[in-house]
Amino acid sequence: MPEINAKRLLGDLYELRRIGEYKTGVHRPSLSPEDLQSRHWLVEKLTEAGLSTEIDGLANVFGRDRSPGRKLLMGSHIETQPHAGWLDGAMGVIYGLEAARTLGGGIDVAAWFDEEGWFGQFLGSRSFCGQVPDAEVDTAKRRGDDVPLRAALDQAGLGGRARAKADPARYLGYLEAHIEQGAELELTGDRIGIVTAIVGSHRFRIMFEGVQNHAGTTRMARRKDAGVALVRLATAIYDRFPALVNERTVWTTGQIGLDPGAPNIVPGRAEMVFQFRDTEPSMLARLGQELEALVAEANQGPCRVTLRRTGSTAPSTMAASFQDALEVAAARHVPGKFQRMPSGAGHDAQILAGIMPSGMLFVPSIGGISHHYAENTSDDDLVLGCQVFVDAAAVLLAG
Ligand SMILES: [Zn+2]
Repeated sequence: MPEINAKRLLGDLYELRRIGEYKTGVHRPSLSPEDLQSRHWLVEKLTEAGLSTEIDGLANVFGRDRSPGRKLLMGSHIETQPHAGWLDGAMGVIYGLEAARTLGGGIDVAAWFDEEGWFGQFLGSRSFCGQVPDAEVDTAKRRGDDVPLRAALDQAGLGGRARAKADPARYLGYLEAHIEQGAELELTGDRIGIVTAIVGSHRFRIMFEGVQNHAGTTRMARRKDAGVALVRLATAIYDRFPALVNERTVWTTGQIGLDPGAPNIVPGRAEMVFQFRDTEPSMLARLGQELEALVAEANQGPCRVTLRRTGSTAPSTMAASFQDALEVAAARHVPGKFQRMPSGAGHDAQILAGIMPSGMLFVPSIGGISHHYAENTSDDDLVLGCQVFVDAAAVLLAG
């Protein structure tokens, strides 16, 4: 099997880390000056690697192999969460670059625009897969500063460029590497994760309507306290869900609010933002039904409780042949030190999997930390992960 150049790989990762450097991490919001600098940096690297390059009308960066024959598409993203880690996304893109250089053909590389959701959800990979209508681009604005996506693209000199569309016939499939962003690998001492499926999520907003009143003069028996209704429902969920789920199912109350939220006022309104995630559509459906039942029960109390679905993504299964190729490669380098595992985080591979066979490899995250500037992976694991990734690609290209 062709050997990667470890020094070149780490050198590129370190170089990219300096663009938008923040403490030990990176700050590169989508279409910020630092993000654009990193995209042009990547174009140079892909060009040096002999690939034909393009930044499309949605700031997706592509490096395409010029030779005939079917390709493996590889990639991830290079913008980051605010003041976050240096490897989240960047590692997968640089693995693709290193694979293209090591294998010398058969590899296309992509850096998908805005996986981190500054302007929307998976805009770059979804656009490539034909799932983003122009109207969505027209109305998207950047979280935080409300800059319209169209204005940001114009400013970047990308306005008016066409958006690249996938030609599934060109590809054997899509392979993405990513840091694990959790602690499962570290806990088991494994060095490679082979992703079986990426979880789907269902998201909700739950509203509670009671009666706002004086905290000193309103007897407890007469109150319609929206805050109490919220806490009771949140607790009921945490009491009831564990009997229904499997060990990797997760659910989160990420935001709560009381209105008016003052010390001397019984809250008249309250709101909670709730989500759950799992790899099984049947589990997601069951939890949805349970939540509806709990909301119906909550409505027996003094407050009016309304449940609104705000969004969902479907779970996505990685192709068996891609999992097998990754396992063959992992077994060669670190026998007994790898595992098949679901991904609890979302990735572009879940979008690409809708139009072509896809696979994902994980490397360990030190302390399980991600979406924080302290995010890190040892150099040894970065190099090992890339070699396993490239070996698996060679197996898939050989058919
Ligand atoms: Zn990522």
